Amino acid sequence: MSGRAQSRPNFKLIKYKSKQQQTKSKNLVNLNMKLICIGRNYTKHIEELQNERPTEPVVFIKPDTAILLKKQPFFIPDFSNDVHHEVEVLVKINRVGKHIDKKFAHKYYDKVGLGIDFTARDLQQKLKEKGLPWEKAKSFDGAAVIGDWMDKSEISDINNLNFSLQKNEITVQKGNTSHMLYKIDEIIEYVSKYFTLKIGDIIFTGTPAGVGKVVANDELKGYIEGKEMFSIKVK
Ligand code: MG
Repeated sequence: MSGRAQSRPNFKLIKYKSKQQQTKSKNLVNLNMKLICIGRNYTKHIEELQNERPTEPVVFIKPDTAILLKKQPFFIPDFSNDVHHEVEVLVKINRVGKHIDKKFAHKYYDKVGLGIDFTARDLQQKLKEKGLPWEKAKSFDGAAVIGDWMDKSEISDINNLNFSLQKNEITVQKGNTSHMLYKIDEIIEYVSKYFTLKIGDIIFTGTPAGVGKVVANDELKGYIEGKEMFSIKVK
């Protein structure tokens, strides 16, 4: 009968999809994760770029393709002559959540790390002047460095964490999370109003002052409380 014949392929299709979804949920950490980034979260950095102090968090997203693969050098893209380092504290999401109240936000991340939000400043400036999105300047391949992770339990106070970046063994950026305009729990509350947070998503919490240009052969090392979290070469 025709009705039955039609229903068979549909059934197979549904079965096939659900198998795919099963695989997907097993690999959720690696599949379709996103990097949620906060801009203008430290007063002195806002001043150095002569930006306006935001009245709510400035948010943008980098796709997973922006992640610089482990042990790979960072290649300066040919569309920029002014790529800047921005060292930032990272947190990794360990539960799916939406509309998370800041009271409960600490339950949604279990790892703390350090990374770089590489920014093609010349391109970003042009986009900003035209009121256009920043993605081309912020989300290109390799533009997100993600260093080692530490368990949140190893940290006594996430809101009083010293971190720094060395370029060629000279400290160029130094920050403390107590100087954030929007604290990590507030960021989680805010961004989860707009985006569902998934397991494996990473939040870049903004950079302190001292951003600057990188050139070929630079070596960048990031530290949290004196512990080396990443070391990368620029090419
Ligand atoms: Mg940044």
